[in-house]
Parts: sequence; C-alpha cells; structure tokens
Amino acid sequence: MKNFDPLESVLGRVDDLDQVNLGILVTRLARERRLLNTVFNSLREGILVIDSEGTLLYANVSAISLLGFKPKDIGTTSLWKAVPDLARTIRLDAAGHLAEATGISREAELTYPESRLVRIYLVPFDEDVHGQQLPRYAVIVSDITLEKTRTQQQIEDERVRSLIQLSAGVAHELGNPLNSLNIHLQLMRRQIQRMEESALRSKVEYSLEICRNEIGRLDSIISHFLEAVRPRPPDFRDLDLVAVLEESLEFLGPELEGSGVSVDVELRAAVPPVQGDRDQVKQVFFNILKNARQAMNRGGVIRVRALVDDEYVNVQIGDTGSGISDEDLPRVFQPYFTTKDGGHGLGMMICERIMRDHGGRIGIDSRRGVGTIVTLQFPQKHRRVRLLEADA
Ligand code: ADP
Ligand code: MG
Repeated sequence: MKNFDPLESVLGRVDDLDQVNLGILVTRLARERRLLNTVFNSLREGILVIDSEGTLLYANVSAISLLGFKPKDIGTTSLWKAVPDLARTIRLDAAGHLAEATGISREAELTYPESRLVRIYLVPFDEDVHGQQLPRYAVIVSDITLEKTRTQQQIEDERVRSLIQLSAGVAHELGNPLNSLNIHLQLMRRQIQRMEESALRSKVEYSLEICRNEIGRLDSIISHFLEAVRPRPPDFRDLDLVAVLEESLEFLGPELEGSGVSVDVELRAAVPPVQGDRDQVKQVFFNILKNARQAMNRGGVIRVRALVDDEYVNVQIGDTGSGISDEDLPRVFQPYFTTKDGGHGLGMMICERIMRDHGGRIGIDSRRGVGTIVTLQFPQKHRRVRLLEADA
C-alpha cells in the first residue's frame, strides 16, 4: 500500500508498542474491520476473495446468498467445488488452479440455489503474508437477471411493433385489389343477368355469389385487423353513457328480438357524464352486446346496470348465455382468440384497448352454463381532469 496510512505506520513499529498501546491498536483494528464488514455486507454485489486454488478466503452476505454456499465453507471449500457453474465459465488448469492471471469478466448462468444470470469480475492481486506475496483473486458477482430479461423484453416489443406496422401496411394495400375485384364481380353479374336463363347461367351466378361473400369476409377481416392494430386517438367530448348505450341497443334491436333475447336496463342512479369518444365507446357497447347475443342461442336476458361511485361510472352488461370456461377466461382479450365459427377474436381486445385509452378498465366475470357479466369502468370527468393535470 503506497498511500500514507497512519495505521500502517503504527503496524510497522508494533514490536515497540507497550500493552496499553497494543490494546488501543487492536480495538482500532477491530473497529475498522467491523466498518468494512458492514460496508461489504450492504453491497448488492457478491464479493469474494479466493486463492489460486479457489479456496474461499472471504465472502460477503450477498455472495453467500447469490451463490448458495454456507458460511462454514469459508476457509475450507473451493469456490469451484461449491459453485460448479462458475468453474465452467472460468478456465482452470488440470490441477484446478486458475489458468488466467489477468482480470476476467464473464457472464455465467447459475442453476443453484435458483436460476440466475450473473456477471463475474475476477481481479488478481497479491497478498503479503509474513513477507511472502501470495496470489489472490477478488471476485465480484453481479446479478444481471433482471437487466437481461428487460432488454430481451424491449427487443421483443420492438419486434412485435415493427411486425404489426408491416402487416398493417400489407393489410391496407390489400384494400385496392379487393375493391377492384368487387367492381369486376358486379360487372360480371350484370353481364350474366343479360344472358338467357340456363343451367350454365345459374351455375355462374352461384359461383359469383360465393366470390362476393368471400370478398366481403376478407374485407371484414382486414378492417377488423386494421381497427385493432391502428387505433385512432380518442376524440374526447362530454358523453352521456346512457344515450350511447341506448343507440347501440337500438342498432342491435332487430337481431336481439329475432333470437328471443330481452333487454332489461336498470339505471338506479343518475349517470354523470364522462369524457369519451362517442364512436369508440359505442363500438365497445356494440361488441359486448353482440357477444352477449351470440352467447344466447336459445334466448335469454341481457341486463344492463350502471353503478356510480365517487370516482367511476361502472356499466355492467350481463347475459344468461353459455358462459366462458375457466381455461378460456384468461384468453378472451388475446388477439384472434375465438370460439366461434367465423369469429374474428378481436372484439374484446379492441374493447380493452379503447377502455385503456379512456383511462378506464374492462373486467369480465363468467360461469360456464350460467352467464357472463362484463364490467366497464369509466373514470368520472373530474378524475380524468385530475389525472391529466398530474401527468402534465
Ligand atoms: P369473437 O366474438 O369474434 O369470437 P371476441 O374478442 O369478441 O371475438 O370474443 C372472444 C371470445 O370470448 C369469444 O369467441 C367467446 O368465446 C368469448 N366471449 C366473449 N364474450 C362472451 C360472452 N358474453 N359469453 C360467452 N363467451 C364470450
Ligand atoms: Mg365478438
């Protein structure tokens, strides 16, 4: 140690010290040792000292817990035996000695005591023991599991985003040829209709009709997809949720009546206005009412409730339909999850996104064979204003 250290200078004259001064020196050394111990044990990094055979000479608390060995291993056990995962990443010679005398920085995967990713720094130094220079290594172990998974997650997100952008572009481009196909099919149909009735004519008409339906289906797949991946920012206005709900119910009226579904709207409290995008909220109601209708093939009841508390307006839409199984329930918001023939599996995902964009939430409770309740939680206007102010 080249720096001037008063302790070092006293240690140099230790033979000259009397009993009292020796006592003071030992107390002081003990205090310094305690201080260093406290500092080392409060580090998140694991700190170890080993000799060239790997024998553990020192380990702080983090090293013990990170590498999963016992305090009694210190002074007796070789690091390479105690943590074989490390021995694999750091080169040892045939006798089990460290083959590298320079500093080392490696990533290593630990399997014990739990699966972790760590970075190991190995720094060689010499320890002076009774005038003899003995090779030692300081080993610093940092846990980088979280850091790694976070970066991995970012790469994944980036990848998904660019994939979505690409497919949104392709989907959009498909619109033009579809349109042209549609126009030409109509032309063909008109021309066919001018022909005399014949078996051939009705065959061609039949095929044309199928083509037209399939084009309609493609068009609907594409527009659902685009709606899901290219959300429009909401145009916030004061919104009367009851009025929007009634419009959606009216729109679906004939379909509901046709399948023997009755609607029971109960609005006990006055529903205060919320801030929302009328078209988007209408789409949420529409998607949910439509799902409710589709879950009740043999008729049933749709129950609409509104519960108002200090912060939120909760709109509940319940049905007495098929319900959702426990396995399917966590998947209903996933894109393209559907249990229906010809379903898109995007409706619930779009609802969730719109609710999130409105600072709200969507929840779903369901029992197989009993029915489903979807809860839409809209923040009240004063809450949204407060949140926006807090953001700013
Ligand atoms: P889609 O209606 O095209 O299938 P959604 O995203 O709207 O797609 O719904 C996904 C799935 O969630 C449905 O296929 C159905 O299995 C389930 N689901 C949603 N709402 C209900 C409901 N009210 N009752 C029963 N199942 C439902
Ligand atoms: Mg749906």
